[in-house]
Amino acid sequence: MNELREILKFYGDMGAEFLHLPDGDPRAGLAELNRRILQCRLCRLHESKTHYVPGEGNIRPDILFIGEGPGETEDQFGRPFIGKAGQLLDKIIQKMGLRREDVFIGNVVKCRPPNNREPLKDEVEACLPYLHQQLRILQPKVIVCLGKVALNNLLGTSHSMGRIRGQLLSFGGIPLMATYHPAYILHKKDKEEITRAKWEVWEDMQKVLALIPGKRP
Ligand code: URA
Repeated sequence: MNELREILKFYGDMGAEFLHLPDGDPRAGLAELNRRILQCRLCRLHESKTHYVPGEGNIRPDILFIGEGPGETEDQFGRPFIGKAGQLLDKIIQKMGLRREDVFIGNVVKCRPPNNREPLKDEVEACLPYLHQQLRILQPKVIVCLGKVALNNLLGTSHSMGRIRGQLLSFGGIPLMATYHPAYILHKKDKEEITRAKWEVWEDMQKVLALIPGKRP
């Protein structure tokens, strides 16, 4: 948490007014943060989006899942991971013995990039402080980055997912695990490859469960 505090102080010193949120009560903090996200105009993505997708879930989650950015269905409804990739994520969460309401699901950018392209550097830079704030408010026990866009933008790295997945990393003192984005699995054609990728995600999620007191992999 100390590293995270330093990151937020850095933004604060840069004059980021919007970071001063009510301390202590996560519900109030999150409500205020969402209010600010829902009127954000810091990058071009707000012009083409239908709905902002701030993220949703438990306000004291064991796990914070972080994706890349809203897709078409998410943009239509203003909710994260509710399209095809979301259905696979739901299955992963269920297999972990959890419900969607037990975790928090968010994204690096809160507005859909046109045609589902990767968010651009300046879009990520504009939006990342919201994710940092969500982390500070939610205080998840573990972060799971879904795919390399989430991982590398959060950590400022350029890891390849094949190499880094399954390794225990950390962000702001919070344990962090990176695994494949569900859409990456869905785009595969070869059945064996799909089975292998799903198995690898399950291996990664077992490591995540082992980090949560009272949860058995
Ligand atoms: N893919 C993402 O990265 N995030 C979503 O919310 C949906 C699909």
